[in-house]
Amino acid sequence: MNVAAILKAKGTDVSSVSQDTTLREVAVLLTERRIGAVVVLQDGKVLGIVSERDIVKAVASGGGGALDAPVRDVMTSRVVTCGLNDSVDELMDSMTMGRFRHLPVIEKGELIGIVSIGDVVKHRIAETVMETEAMRLYIANG
Ligand code: AMP
Repeated sequence: MNVAAILKAKGTDVSSVSQDTTLREVAVLLTERRIGAVVVLQDGKVLGIVSERDIVKAVASGGGGALDAPVRDVMTSRVVTCGLNDSVDELMDSMTMGRFRHLPVIEKGELIGIVSIGDVVKHRIAETVMETEAMRLYIANG
């Protein structure tokens, strides 16, 4: 199973903000959309990514006032991305090595989706269930 299959199931919608958006506005967006991260875009180009973890870190060090800071102050600028042909195993490796839970999907330089650790776990479980069933049928039919 690969990224294309995941996006086929979940869609290509990506929540994005500009680098001037405040952390307070991002917190509201994350809560309303029940997501954990947004991509920071400028003229269609990925400038960074900001997740709930960045907001928690900013509040822990700067208090509630940190929520008035713009996203550009806390976003991660070196964004690791994935492509449509990447496998679920490759995504798991990437998330484990990078210690993050979101991977924007880039194809021909364009942002075309985002995959979260929740999507990866869901598809990994589906794969495991299919493999187990295939094995069960194989054993049952001798
Ligand atoms: P997360 O686990 O996705 O909430 O993110 C943990 C940290 O990694 C935060 O500082 C994010 O800004 C950063 N981060 C999230 N996704 C990525 C990514 N694809 N590439 C680089 N950094 C990321």
